[in-house]
Amino acid sequence: MKGSVSLGKVSEIDIKIHWTFLLIFVWVVFIELEQGGTLSSILFNAAFILVIFTCVVLHELGHALMAKRFGVSTKKITLLPIGGVASLEKIPEEPYQEFLVAIAGPLVNVVIALLLFFLVPVQSVLQLPLVEMLEELNELSVSNFLFYLFLANAGLVVFNMIPAFPMDGGRVLRAVLAMYTDRVKATSIAAAIGQFIAMIFLLLGLFVNIFLVFIALFVFIGAYGENKMVQHTALLKGHKVREAMLTNITRLHPEDSMQKVRDLLLSGTEKDFVVSANGKALGILSHENILNNSGKKNALVRDFMDTEFKTISSQAPLKDVLRLVESGKSHFYPVTSPDGMLEGAIDMTNLNEFIVLQSHLEF
Ligand SMILES: [Zn+2]
Repeated sequence: MKGSVSLGKVSEIDIKIHWTFLLIFVWVVFIELEQGGTLSSILFNAAFILVIFTCVVLHELGHALMAKRFGVSTKKITLLPIGGVASLEKIPEEPYQEFLVAIAGPLVNVVIALLLFFLVPVQSVLQLPLVEMLEELNELSVSNFLFYLFLANAGLVVFNMIPAFPMDGGRVLRAVLAMYTDRVKATSIAAAIGQFIAMIFLLLGLFVNIFLVFIALFVFIGAYGENKMVQHTALLKGHKVREAMLTNITRLHPEDSMQKVRDLLLSGTEKDFVVSANGKALGILSHENILNNSGKKNALVRDFMDTEFKTISSQAPLKDVLRLVESGKSHFYPVTSPDGMLEGAIDMTNLNEFIVLQSHLEF
């Protein structure tokens, strides 16, 4: 996510904080001043937020380190005002693995809450008559700080376990469903429940707490996107790259002029090109690259082609292309035969076309 600052690394995972996180502190100061707070009450609350978000980082590390046990790495953990996001390289497809990865986060908060439960006299506070309890809890003391921290961790467990896919509880639900039915069906059920709960969040958010509106959007869009992704991957299953690749591509030569490329761009529908010689791919010239250098008509293709590119084998599973595109490095890949000769190319438009054709076959 753009606008994040790195706080350091834990177990090779970048811990980042998004600038919007600062809004929470602005909000705390605002609320405190409005309620006649003092400098110490502001500091108390600000420190509390820092500690809570440390618990959120530990929660995300719970997911990440469990995922690591199953060979899934995590690029980064980003802290946003609505919580943390661990960017896992992928979600384990094995239901019991997804179950363990999803539950590991909330379990971290269960452990913290249990520790605090024994550390602070939670029960003795809760047993006080209401008026006395509120009075006691108004003090800015260390024990109250820990008591609130206990409540917050308990709250994090309850909130995260709401079965609103793709929140943790929703992932647990999908994993459990996937143990009894197939993953595609399990995902569409979990996503429908997730979107239903998101609507409730949205309504509550409008009247109770504005943060819930953002969470509602996150859940709604997340459920939609991930459901679609799972359905698509299922349609690609069992198919190879060669079945969907573009074979009718224009092969540029390194010595071709940029003027020629410009003409090709205008006269046809191809946007990205493979540069090759003697049947081997040497580079790619992306649409963006061509536009950026369209003024240099006498320059040669070899001056601008990108030589740091990935190719994909025509024998590779088609869903690998989806993974490559999702990794965000490029959207266009030359396709090679097992002996390394250029056979064609594949991009997302191509893949989408294949998905549409497949879905027409299915229904
Ligand atoms: Zn979580």
